[in-house]
Amino acid sequence: MTVGSQAGSTPGLVLATANQHKLIELTRILAASHVDVDVRGLADFPGAPEVQETGSTFAENALLKAHAVAAFTGLPAVADDSGLCVDALNGMPGVLSARWSGRHGDDAANLRLVLAQISDVPEERRGAQFVCAAALVLPDGQEHVSEGVVRGSLAREPRGQNGFGYDPIFLPVNSTLTTAEMDPADKDKISHRGRALRALAPVIAALIG
Ligand code: IMP
Repeated sequence: MTVGSQAGSTPGLVLATANQHKLIELTRILAASHVDVDVRGLADFPGAPEVQETGSTFAENALLKAHAVAAFTGLPAVADDSGLCVDALNGMPGVLSARWSGRHGDDAANLRLVLAQISDVPEERRGAQFVCAAALVLPDGQEHVSEGVVRGSLAREPRGQNGFGYDPIFLPVNSTLTTAEMDPADKDKISHRGRALRALAPVIAALIG
C-alpha cells in the first residue's frame, strides 16, 4: 500500500473521513491487510462534500459518505460509520456517538455524559460494544458493506492516552486495559474497525487492487 498522491500507476482509493483519528486507524489497518492501493485522504480533494449522517444505521451512514465521496472524486471510496452501543442505555449513543453531548466531535464531553448517565449502573450491567460499518463504493455505484463488533464493558473512570472518543472507558472482553491503554496495533487486532476493514479488504483487493 502507498499513501499520498505520488504513487504512479497504483490504483487509488479515497478514505472518506474528515476524522483524523479514524483516517490513521483505517490507513494502518489496510496497510496491515496488504491491500496494494494508493490510499488518499479527503485532504487531497479540496471541496469534497461534508455529508450529513442522517441514516438510522451505521451501514446507511457509511454508504451515504462513501457514495458522496466516490461521486465527487471519481475514485473508489471507503467510509466507516461507527459508535458505542451501551446495554444500559438501550444501545445508545449508537449512531449519535459523535454528537451525544450536543456538539459534534466533542469527545471529552460525550465521554463524560455517558459516564454520568450510567454512574449508578452496577458492574454486571455495564456491558457495551463498539460497532463499525465499513462501506466500499465504486464510481459506477457498486457498493459493499461489512460490519465489525467488539464487546466489552465500561470503566468508571477514563484511563489511557491512545485512541480517541470513548476509548478511555472501553474495556474489551478479557482485557484489563482500556482501548486507550492498548498498543494501537493490539487495538486494531480486536477492534470493530479492524474487523470491518479486514472483512472488506479482500473485496477491495479483488475489485481495485
Ligand atoms: P462517526 O463514525 O464519524 O459518526 O463517529 C463515531 C463516533 O463514535 C466517534 O466520534 C467516537 O465518539 C465513537 N467511536 C467510534 N469508534 C471509536 C473507537 O474506536 N474508539 C472510541 N470511540 C469511537
